Amino acid sequence: MQSGEVQTVKRLHCMPWPDAAKALQCPGATLVWPFGAMEQHGPQLPLATDALFAERILDAVLGELSQDLPIWSLPPQTIGFSPEHRGFPGTVSLSADLLIDLIKDVGGQLAEQGVKRLVLFNAHGGQIGLLQAAARELAAQSPSMAVLPCFIWSGVSGLSDLLPDHELRHGLHAGLAETSLMLALEPTLVGSERPADGDHSSAGSSSTPPEGWSLEGDSPMAWFTADLSESGVVGDSRGADSALGHQLQTQLIRHWKTLFTSLLASSWPPRADPRRI
Ligand SMILES: [Zn+2]
Repeated sequence: MQSGEVQTVKRLHCMPWPDAAKALQCPGATLVWPFGAMEQHGPQLPLATDALFAERILDAVLGELSQDLPIWSLPPQTIGFSPEHRGFPGTVSLSADLLIDLIKDVGGQLAEQGVKRLVLFNAHGGQIGLLQAAARELAAQSPSMAVLPCFIWSGVSGLSDLLPDHELRHGLHAGLAETSLMLALEPTLVGSERPADGDHSSAGSSSTPPEGWSLEGDSPMAWFTADLSESGVVGDSRGADSALGHQLQTQLIRHWKTLFTSLLASSWPPRADPRRI
């Protein structure tokens, strides 16, 4: 696929219903639902940054897979769960209950129509746990369908070679990685500012977590951007460029192409044990 060319063949929502009917009845029919958020991403990135990333990376991955494989995308869920960005204009959030109900409601209808696997392809770090909880509830409700909640930046090899260690650990939002990736994918949406803000790793700052704790990671806490950052950036976007963005894009596509290939070659999910139905 040429860069910039929109991949529509594998979008379920671009099909007429007779084609969708055939797709959903394919053995191992797999749908991938991109998730983002409508939240501030600093003064340089659009509110819907995460949804754009999820959709573009997914389109590219589906474009690289064999077109015969039974995998299609759903329309992106652009409004997510973003209470940590409250106070920054333009940010809107669903409640946790509403997002869980949405996933269970839509997912249940897809399972009834024959879908065997539903991947929640999420690019917003603030809703990883919530989507995992929703996936567990949906899988309990619809035992014939596997539900796989994933975060597009998790498990991607090579990120530590591309991003400085400090930014990998402390660049949580709209920093080097996200700004560079947007410069690669949609440069006209990137403003000229390049903040370095939200430093929560300097000794003596009220926003520095106690020793052994961190904002995210092994011992996380529920943090709010407004407590840390004036600009909305939590990280350092100063060195962002499209070359780095293209490298990140390549790693993301390679990673998810490998995982989807493995999923589609498998017979997952296992047969549901009667004890849990
Ligand atoms: Zn983001």
